[in-house]
Amino acid sequence: MKRNLIIFIALIIILFPSISNGRTEEDLDYIDVKIGKTYELLERVRISTDSGMSIYQKDDKVDALMELPGNTMYISLSLGRYDEIDVYDDSNTYVATLPANGTVIFGEGDSETSLMSVDGKKYRGYITFIGSRNGLYVINHVNIEDYLYGVVPKEIPSLSSEEALKAQAVAARSYAYSTMNKHINEGFNVCDTTHCQVYGGYDAEQPTTNKAVDQTLGLVAEYDGNIASTVFHSSSGGHTESSENVWGGRVPYLVAVEDPFSLNTVNSKWEIVMDSDSLNQKLMSGGIDIGELRSIDIMETTESGRVVELILNGSRGSAEVSGERFRSLIGTTTIKSTLFSVGTNTDSQDMNDSTIYAATERRIQMLEGDRGKISIISGDERIGSYSDESIAVIGDRGVFTYKTPETVDISRGSVVISGRGFGHGIGMSQYGAIEMAKQGFDFEEILEHYYTGIEITKY
Ligand SMILES: [Zn+2]
Repeated sequence: MKRNLIIFIALIIILFPSISNGRTEEDLDYIDVKIGKTYELLERVRISTDSGMSIYQKDDKVDALMELPGNTMYISLSLGRYDEIDVYDDSNTYVATLPANGTVIFGEGDSETSLMSVDGKKYRGYITFIGSRNGLYVINHVNIEDYLYGVVPKEIPSLSSEEALKAQAVAARSYAYSTMNKHINEGFNVCDTTHCQVYGGYDAEQPTTNKAVDQTLGLVAEYDGNIASTVFHSSSGGHTESSENVWGGRVPYLVAVEDPFSLNTVNSKWEIVMDSDSLNQKLMSGGIDIGELRSIDIMETTESGRVVELILNGSRGSAEVSGERFRSLIGTTTIKSTLFSVGTNTDSQDMNDSTIYAATERRIQMLEGDRGKISIISGDERIGSYSDESIAVIGDRGVFTYKTPETVDISRGSVVISGRGFGHGIGMSQYGAIEMAKQGFDFEEILEHYYTGIEITKY
């Protein structure tokens, strides 16, 4: 009997194959989220419910293909195959072989709203599986609004002011819709990490953030008739950044704005002290082989002050790296943003009458010792000048001015990197949004502040 049923299911699947890429009308409100790890060959995924389990075709969630025997099933890739999964029940009895292309979904049988447990972690909606050369992907096929319940509390503190939570809900919804194709070549829409949006499923839900999702049901940010890709970050540090300065492409609604709301919040200011040894190590392991780091020259910053390019001068050469690259070389949670400056942990770097700086084409070096009031003279005894911000020297081809604070000699001791903000700085600053909500702005005003020229509309 069971065997017949399996053949029957197989026939249905062969005769009516669902289309996995290209969303059907009915599918529009669902999103396929890859959850958890990728399971290796032979490794089993345990899925369970509180009241029965059935399998459905993705585009027909009403008529079950089959009611499974029990509340708990074990799933793994069929031996030697990437396109099929085997289903076993709780007592290790073989139940069925199904396609591993995401077309057959597992849901709770007897309940109105399906709640599935995957290796002990609960998810709303349905679970399906996609086989690949990398192993088995577990996919949560879930209504977008239900998905947002599990996203918003992972992206913003759930006890933030209500309007900030609503702004985050709309931003998360718009971002989800605008990134539906991010993983489409792998057979799903989004993953559950910071690469897409962090998603914690049912276990992560909080009453306050669920309420914010409900209160903004279906609302998205639109620009020029299209759903805006509403990227966000933790804190801008006082000035957001234009997308073209970080990702290269100009996006009309992702332009730099003054952001006083992010000035006195979490991570609005930070400072780290690194000794040159650990700096050298990080650079070395990042493939930058310039010997002992001697100095860092910040060459270019954006209008909002973020480092575009810097030069690392070492004992065996120098390397030009972007601010973003430098950030990821040292660690993106250490260097929290590219809105930083570099200094030493002694204040002797400050210009004063008893300090002499010698300049070459590439760097400025401080000469030690109390020498009284100094002037800089060239070979023919003409006198150069300096101020707090810059130093001017005369060479045989004229006068050269260097900006002193931009160059830091770190050949001795340690370096201090001080910065503002956390994250790429593009779009909404989450701590700025929280501050705006505290000051009485509503979620539309918050979103309009961070995304220039957008409109909030019903999707
Ligand atoms: Zn992703």
